[in-house]
Amino acid sequence: MSTARRYAGYRSYSYLRPGIDYESFRLAPETGRQPAYDLVLDAGQRRRVESLLARSIVISLHDHPVVYPLRPEEFRAYNRAGRQHTGFEGLARSGLTAVFDNLMDGEGMITSSAGWKWDETIHDLGMRLCDLGHQDYAIVGRTVGDIVSAHQEGRLAVVFGLESATPIENEVDRLDVLYGLGVRQVGIAYSEANALGAGLKEARDGGLTRFGHRCVERMNRLGIAIDLSHAGDRTALDTIEASSKPVLITHAGARAVWGTPRMKPDDVLMACAERGGVLGIEAAPHSTVSPAHPAHCLESVMDHFLYAVDLMGIDHVAFGPDTIFGDHVALHRVFGPAPGPGEGAAPRPAASPRQPETPPTGAPPAAQPVPYVAGMENPGESFANIVSWLVLHDYPDEDIQKVIGGNVVRVLGEIW
Ligand SMILES: [Zn+2]
Repeated sequence: MSTARRYAGYRSYSYLRPGIDYESFRLAPETGRQPAYDLVLDAGQRRRVESLLARSIVISLHDHPVVYPLRPEEFRAYNRAGRQHTGFEGLARSGLTAVFDNLMDGEGMITSSAGWKWDETIHDLGMRLCDLGHQDYAIVGRTVGDIVSAHQEGRLAVVFGLESATPIENEVDRLDVLYGLGVRQVGIAYSEANALGAGLKEARDGGLTRFGHRCVERMNRLGIAIDLSHAGDRTALDTIEASSKPVLITHAGARAVWGTPRMKPDDVLMACAERGGVLGIEAAPHSTVSPAHPAHCLESVMDHFLYAVDLMGIDHVAFGPDTIFGDHVALHRVFGPAPGPGEGAAPRPAASPRQPETPPTGAPPAAQPVPYVAGMENPGESFANIVSWLVLHDYPDEDIQKVIGGNVVRVLGEIW
């Protein structure tokens, strides 16, 4: 894989002294944390997978390529330390040309209370830019040209994104500041409502607000991609209507396949596609489950892919696996119940003492609890397994190249 060529072994913050200059934690291994997923390919199919990964632009539309501590008890302290480690080693083996890195804001970074804070977002971004500034494998992806050069030079383009516009509060100009710091994708709302519109956890969705309209226009002018993954349905439809450019749903699945509010209904998916937008298929634990594969794994994720391609067309589907390096199920346990049902929170026990969130479409179906998503466990393995699945199911090269990166390149060309 071409992206491995330039990586020379850099580890996050290795220009400082761990334990002296910063609080250090024993981190999860970036490879081999779980057994490899075996799709049983023959030698010819394996060669085809390797060749496709090497010669294609491969883009993850949504991930958190951060390495978490081995011990979940340390997750909160790790976040509070305000120094997220990027999994460069795992990424170098992933086949990825570019990764939309959505940081870890809104999950109780630095302060212990969960929520979105401007200061913490800027701290997180600056810290990550500092780390990237001390190595020469990954670059900050700000343009389509950056992604193309990363592909040609065997580097990785890290594209910064924010899952929610909440940290801008009521200041449109903060979008300019985010753009200046390299952010190229911003979500309208993360599950709870903000000044722009409603999130998917709200019982009532009043649609895109007047301030939300101003932000959509500003993001169109700046060249920031709008993400609707955690927006409410009405807000999502209003945003697609208001935006002069295509919008993204960077990480979600189809509600027709799995009926949780975290999944998108057909009308939102179709409106997104009709305006030229792209859906990235999600794979965070217990999210894109399917009735045919209720124990979340690559096969359940691909059930959402098949449905989305059927509904939206092959030109409008990509992948946003939403993975981390480390125990993602434990991460949801530690920081839950912040994510909505379906992304987040481990499946709710039948007689939960906790008050359930109010899903807008009735009680969501219960996913079978899994310790990790087989085949989509971390940012290092997901795309090799996706390509293997597509090769095994006889997709032509042209279609595979579209869904693993080509469609994203096309839409970014229009948005950025
Ligand atoms: Zn998300």
